[in-house]
Amino acid sequence: MASLKLSHIYKVYDNGHKAVNDFNIDIADKEFIVFVGPSGCGKSTTLRMIAGLETITAGDLFIGDTLVNDMEPKDRDIAMVFQSYALYPHMTVYENMAFGLRNRKMPEDQIKERVLKAAKMLDIEEYLGRKPKAMSGGQRQRVALGRALVRDPKVFLLDEPLSNLDAKLRAQMRTEITKLHKSLGTTFIYVTHDQVEAMTMGTRIVVMKLGYVQQIDTPMNLYNEPYNKFVAGFIGSPQMNFFNVKLTRKADKVKVDFVSDENASINLPYEKLAKIHDKYLHGDTEVIFGIRPEHLEVVKKGKGLKVVVNAVEHLGNECIVYGKLGDKVEEFSMKDDGRDVIVKTIEGTPVEVGDVIEVAPKQDKVHFFDAQTEITLMEKIPSFNSVAAKVSKNSLEVFGGKAKLPEVFAKALEGKTNVTLEIPPSSIVKGKDFTLPVEKCEEVDGKVLAYLVNGDSILFAIVDKVLEPGSEYSFSLLNEKVTVLADGEEVLKATSDKVEFHGTFSKTEVKEKRQRVLHFFYNINGKAFEAPVEKGYKINTIDGNACYKNEYKYAVAIDSLKIVDGDEGLLGQVEEVLKYGDVTFAKVKVGSDEILVKVSDDFAASEVRINFASEDVEVYSTNIDMKIC
Ligand code: ADP
Repeated sequence: MASLKLSHIYKVYDNGHKAVNDFNIDIADKEFIVFVGPSGCGKSTTLRMIAGLETITAGDLFIGDTLVNDMEPKDRDIAMVFQSYALYPHMTVYENMAFGLRNRKMPEDQIKERVLKAAKMLDIEEYLGRKPKAMSGGQRQRVALGRALVRDPKVFLLDEPLSNLDAKLRAQMRTEITKLHKSLGTTFIYVTHDQVEAMTMGTRIVVMKLGYVQQIDTPMNLYNEPYNKFVAGFIGSPQMNFFNVKLTRKADKVKVDFVSDENASINLPYEKLAKIHDKYLHGDTEVIFGIRPEHLEVVKKGKGLKVVVNAVEHLGNECIVYGKLGDKVEEFSMKDDGRDVIVKTIEGTPVEVGDVIEVAPKQDKVHFFDAQTEITLMEKIPSFNSVAAKVSKNSLEVFGGKAKLPEVFAKALEGKTNVTLEIPPSSIVKGKDFTLPVEKCEEVDGKVLAYLVNGDSILFAIVDKVLEPGSEYSFSLLNEKVTVLADGEEVLKATSDKVEFHGTFSKTEVKEKRQRVLHFFYNINGKAFEAPVEKGYKINTIDGNACYKNEYKYAVAIDSLKIVDGDEGLLGQVEEVLKYGDVTFAKVKVGSDEILVKVSDDFAASEVRINFASEDVEVYSTNIDMKIC
């Protein structure tokens, strides 16, 4: 039994191919995690790194509390089951299962006990004397599972174990493996390209594409709240319908106009789409509308979207209708013109080829994605609230109230009257500047998201406890986290939590107590910060001796920077003092890097010395985009 942690794991193969990028997950003990995605997305590579069969280019892998990056596979206490079974053909089933234990010099009586127990669980007792070639695919796969089982490992790794079996056997083995997982209470990590396998087996699923994790979630959350179009299309069968549309808000409704069919449009309640950023609701931006076939309902004439039926599949309990938006029967063509519609409906719905039916989406089941990034427009916690505000004299009029204009805002907004504030929900904090009524609260990923009523829009705020609907919430803004737009242009950018320096990496070798000891350094603008020795070795391992020639990006949290006296730290020239109200920053030039550092309200120097602990430095490669440590 064990937990696992993958932290910023990368794999770059010797030929330079980046197969896995910044893979992060905490796997709890006893979880059944499935890695799923199309062929070549990096699933097996990740699994093989966990097994120790592939080196880890960068990142940390923990099994339990132990860092295992450099641990031999045999010492990791894991067992792996492969698609190819990998059984020894000249050995009997018993011998195959006993082989690993014999190698470990386990006493024969214990081996026998374990093999018999596993054989019983897997219902292969009667085949123990047989050779693999005298067994079916399903039976061989059970032997492969048995060989893993007898090892009593902390973690089971399974790489497409059912791919060689026929559909019926695969479905049966799927259930068997799920039951086995429950009865063993061991952590399972399972790789498959089959979304049905993933959905039916995983307690959590990692969806991957081209070496990048797309979403890590429970099967139901992946189905209901896909983070992007890829996940939305990958999970579910038949696939989700996608249409290019334009959205226009009209009071409490949003009109959805289909780009591929000018006669097709529907209305949805604004309330259901409140998380969509306002900029998408003016009818001039194409977005992608997604709706699953099972969430389109056949409705009465005049109530929905017209669809011409091209094909109907009767499956006994349900019926799949294939059609095209519109009401004209056309010559058949496989070309995707953006009008294809699939509807899954109950058997008995009177639908025939050539019919024009009308369908409407279930309002709670609609999805919208950005047309370029393909990321959902309905994030569980929206990234920003877009809020109209007025600048007058020294104040900012917003949320039906007035607040003193911070100096930075006053300078940036000189001559502007109407502006738009982009406010992250986490930068709305308890305070006295503004008050709005609470519509409701929602718990999302351990946080409380409050819906505050701001005129005819919703202001989303992260609050520290569930607020009563109808109550009033008083708040202030973390001004430094707000981006301001005027006439669509960014006039003031939110500050970042981290600053970045660019520099080199070096080592010195010294004799200490008659031993040669290496010291590593981050060199930034003429100053050397001694690197923690394990990080130094890591950089050297990843980049080889090129590390002493490469340039690195060193990131430090703003809160870790300190202004110091004397000649310690980095020397920087103060370019500007930025007063945000509650917090003041100095904009400082250090070499070619421009950074922000928090200073006191009365700060007025032209030069500063900035220091930080080298343990707080994150190191990024600049030749390939990768966090090293
Ligand atoms: P999956 O298991 O998702 O099908 P893999 O992890 O096997 O994908 O492979 C991910 C990517 O890495 C693929 O593009 C594959 O071609 C590449 N790859 C795998 N092994 C090697 C290797 N030894 N050298 C170079 N590239 C590799």
